[in-house]
Amino acid sequence: MIDPEPIVSPWRRDGREELWKRLSGDWDLIVIGGGITGAGILALGSRMKLKVLLLERGDFASGTSGRSSKLVHGGLRYLKRMELKLARGSVQERQYLLRTASGLVEPLGFVYPVYKGEPIGPWLVEMGLGIYTHLAKDAGDYRKLEAVDIVMLAPGLLREGLLRGYYYRDAQTDDARLVFKVIQDALAASEERCFALQYARVTDFITEESRVVGVQVRDEEDGKETQVRARLVINATGVWADGLRAKMGRKKKLRPLRGSHLFFDAHRFPVYQAIAFGHPDDDRPVFAYPWQGVTLVGTTDLDHPSSLEEEPQIEMAEVHYLLHGIQTRFPDLALKTRDILSVQSGLRPVIDTGRENPSDESRDDAVWEEDGLLTVTGGKLTTFRLVAADALLEAHRLHRDLPTPSWDTEVVSRTPALSDFEECIEARQRRRIAGRYGNAASSLLRSRPDRLRPVPKTPYLEAEILWSARNETVLHLDDLFLRRFRLGILLPDGGLSLMDRMKEDLQRALDWEEPRWTEERDRYREIRRRCHELE
Ligand code: FAD
Repeated sequence: MIDPEPIVSPWRRDGREELWKRLSGDWDLIVIGGGITGAGILALGSRMKLKVLLLERGDFASGTSGRSSKLVHGGLRYLKRMELKLARGSVQERQYLLRTASGLVEPLGFVYPVYKGEPIGPWLVEMGLGIYTHLAKDAGDYRKLEAVDIVMLAPGLLREGLLRGYYYRDAQTDDARLVFKVIQDALAASEERCFALQYARVTDFITEESRVVGVQVRDEEDGKETQVRARLVINATGVWADGLRAKMGRKKKLRPLRGSHLFFDAHRFPVYQAIAFGHPDDDRPVFAYPWQGVTLVGTTDLDHPSSLEEEPQIEMAEVHYLLHGIQTRFPDLALKTRDILSVQSGLRPVIDTGRENPSDESRDDAVWEEDGLLTVTGGKLTTFRLVAADALLEAHRLHRDLPTPSWDTEVVSRTPALSDFEECIEARQRRRIAGRYGNAASSLLRSRPDRLRPVPKTPYLEAEILWSARNETVLHLDDLFLRRFRLGILLPDGGLSLMDRMKEDLQRALDWEEPRWTEERDRYREIRRRCHELE
């Protein structure tokens, strides 16, 4: 039987005040940062029976982890740079997530066309794929494709100079949802030993004899502050890690690199699996793939000199670079700037080694201790479990009484079998819902039948949006429309008309009167305009 009660109460909006009162407890770990790295440490710590508190200054996944390319992948390009350890770890973790989190992490076929005169010729691609598909036992094989097959798989692709191609498999996900799942599962498994609080900013450290023993936290919703202590504080704040380290007088170590994406209506730019190719200007990898009903194109890789306090925005030069890449490879589609549905930029936290080309900096994770503060950064969405284990191993070295982590601990709950769900929606939807909501899916599907229809141009059910508004700690409309659901990216108006249509139901679910609703709608419209629209 399925448990109808979804999640532990502190995850709910009405659990926030209760949770704030409990902050003064005695914690083993305080983890700062509610992206995938912090979520992974919470998840592993929870399974190791530790008392862990996760603090996030905005919404969970509002940093880089909700703005990635949404691939759960081995990273074929890491092989090119001989980063074998990273590629192997990524492929193994991809396979783990495909097995465990089906419906949320799904296989994605890649077509890699090879053209005459390209720097990376067919034999090199073949060699790379040969290694790539042997990095895990169940990694699957690759296939050689003749030009005629490729054109069938990728309509509109340039035929001239096309020598042949290759087909292999990776995986895709909804990155923000993956973060929520990891956090929700961690809390559910912790029997109230672990907690996660969003809109709680760490503003400073508490030190004793120059060693970090706790943090000063500010509630970003009402400004109240408190101090919290733990045996160990972990700084998992991605590109913002240097900002916190600076409070301890430490010099910068990170090089924030911006990566941007374009999203197209799938009718305007139809692709049925991922198409990967070298950009005609610099041979950097570019890909286009179908994601939640739209086509996602990525990505750039540039230094980001702007303030980290503002949300990253795409620059027109990046738009032109990506457009030029797809215009060259898909000339018949004649894609223009006006065809772009929405955009998204994120910041890669990589260690600065001074390489001239940003793309040459390693994407591997790094963990180090300074004055009792453990910082963990780098890594990938895909490898969060390995990054968490690296961090907790270092934690064990610093505090021998903390247990040793294991790299293969199950940190996400297995997607329940499809047959456990009512037959009220089609199989593909059931799989998606089961992957996202786990055991809570059955209570969600008991909604009114007219709410079990997908919202046009999205995969989401109206019932899901309302359920989430009630149960998934939504404090602002951007939490709901940008991260619990990706309506701000998928819909041409960012979902504003849907928001207006669902207003009464949402107001009831969120318990908001008119002034709060208006304020939240304006806030959402402004964030969406700034970060996801082209000016
Ligand atoms: P973040 O997600 O940024 O989390 C850090 C959190 O700390 C933020 O939410 C922030 O709000 C919070 N924070 C900051 N300061 C404070 C404070 N003082 N108090 C409390 N909280 C604070 N990886 C893949 O595996 N697959 C991909 O397809 C992929 N594509 C990518 C594409 C791009 C463009 C980029 C930029 C990265 C991509 N990556 C990908 C890498 C991956 O997204 C990142 O490595 C990962 O998301 C980093 O997670 P994080 O938790 O370390 O950082």
